[in-house]
Amino acid sequence: MQDSADIVVVGGGCIGVSVAYHLAKRGAGKVLLLERDQFLGQESTGKCAGGIRAQFSTEVNTRLSLLSIKAFENWQQEIGEPLQYWQWGYCFLLTSDELVANFKKSFKMWKRLGMEPEWWSPEEVARRLPYINMEGVQGATFHQRDGFGDPSDITQGFAKAARRHGAVIENNVEVTGIRLDSLGRQVVGVETNRGEVRCGKLVLCTGAWTRKVAAMAGIDVPIEPIRRQIIVTDKFDKIADPFPMTVDLSTTLYFHRESGGVLIGMSDHSESAGFNDSFNEEFGEQMLMTAMERAPVLENAVPKHKWAGLYEVTPDHHPVIDRLGHLDGAYVCAGFSGHGLMHAPAAGIVTAELMLEGKASSVDITALELERFSDPSRLHDEANVI
Ligand SMILES: Cc1cc2nc3c(=O)[nH]c(=O)nc-3n(C[C@H](O)[C@H](O)[C@H](O)COP(=O)(O)OP(=O)(O)OC[C@H]3O[C@@H](n4cnc5c(N)ncnc54)[C@H](O)[C@@H]3O)c2cc1C
Repeated sequence: MQDSADIVVVGGGCIGVSVAYHLAKRGAGKVLLLERDQFLGQESTGKCAGGIRAQFSTEVNTRLSLLSIKAFENWQQEIGEPLQYWQWGYCFLLTSDELVANFKKSFKMWKRLGMEPEWWSPEEVARRLPYINMEGVQGATFHQRDGFGDPSDITQGFAKAARRHGAVIENNVEVTGIRLDSLGRQVVGVETNRGEVRCGKLVLCTGAWTRKVAAMAGIDVPIEPIRRQIIVTDKFDKIADPFPMTVDLSTTLYFHRESGGVLIGMSDHSESAGFNDSFNEEFGEQMLMTAMERAPVLENAVPKHKWAGLYEVTPDHHPVIDRLGHLDGAYVCAGFSGHGLMHAPAAGIVTAELMLEGKASSVDITALELERFSDPSRLHDEANVI
């Protein structure tokens, strides 16, 4: 393995490969990505549901999504690799006065940002989504450019394109330490299980493990691992294609087409932080019951695959894209709180801008600064978290 680089990217999930690609494309010098696993995208990225949507409650999340959706739409031209991507829309079912009021506000913001969302009456919901039990449904929002994409295609596509631009990707390399100069201000390298690598710049794209890795440099980045799980059914054609990713925020249930079956997800809000990513059968039963209540036709679907993975959650459900505290040359791009796949293209773009130009210009990322956690008045929680 090379013992020096201009920039070391730590972590080879969808975020790390996107950051490496955007840095290499812009000619940032020798870019070296280090991933401790045998393959790229084996952690949160490989466990994710593939959802890609712009319907967020905050402007910064919506803007990151719109920039990313544009990149996914232009994937073939820009990345030159295949991407399975279905723009079948996302539909948020609104089941309380509070949700209706909140989504009305968001709806205005989405239109201001150039989106073309649709507001469906209960009759429209029943017509468009005949598989839905309409109990409590007061309406829904729909955005056609939302949908879902293949996490493996996204990861591999960015990785291949990054290599074409000269980036080097090393697997089975775990970063075990961060080296600073004698004043403790400037990053000078990383220690790994395969020796030291000198570098002028470093960016942590270490998802749920970021708090541990940042602590190696004495900086606290409040990202917590929280288990989330998924069930995919066997082939199931009783819901006609194309049907949108359907989300019931009151229970956090969501489902969409996956490999001819249906992928079902739901958040366990009693889950506490931790690195346990084994499947919780009891909660799995609850997920299926909730799914059958909202879409009774799913009673006929047979669960085939199930797994759990880690969300990488910050206190306000927004990522941290910033310098790593007071350190020169150190950056962090992590903590997407369950939305990292859909934000991966934008994350790479703005992180490369920040690292190479000193400031992100494609999206204002002031709201994503690390310092916000020491000033509660700066925290604006993302409400549309599932
Ligand atoms: C069940 C589930 C469903 C989800 N659904 C969606 C969805 O529909 N849409 C969406 O956008 N997002 C979804 N997400 C969230 C999404 O998966 C994450 O936000 C995204 O994958 C984060 O990417 P990442 O690259 O930051 O993290 P990861 O993919 O976890 O990558 C971080 C990498 O850093 C490596 N690493 C850590 N420490 C070190 C070290 N010391 N040295 C070297 N390497 C290290 C890890 O091995 C890992 O490969 C879901 C997540 C889960 C669990």
